[in-house]
Amino acid sequence: MTQKKATPKTEPTVAVTAEPVDPIAAQYTTGKWHGHPNYQCGLCPFSTLSDDAMRHHVVQRHMRETGLLDRYGNALARVGG
Ligand SMILES: [Zn+2]
Repeated sequence: MTQKKATPKTEPTVAVTAEPVDPIAAQYTTGKWHGHPNYQCGLCPFSTLSDDAMRHHVVQRHMRETGLLDRYGNALARVGG
């Protein structure tokens, strides 16, 4: 006669943080303004309700092309000058 012990599952949960970091999105935060998403530049006082406008602002104002491509063929840019 064998008895099986009920063993609770105690497997550790590993947080997977393999999301690719968007170097442009990392430069601004998203808040709320009258129910609309409000994009606030983290490098200057600029803010806008348009995500496209914010991305354009970050690239044009705060990044410069490095002339290099990443492994996906995207142009690498870096903050500052
Ligand atoms: Zn800015």
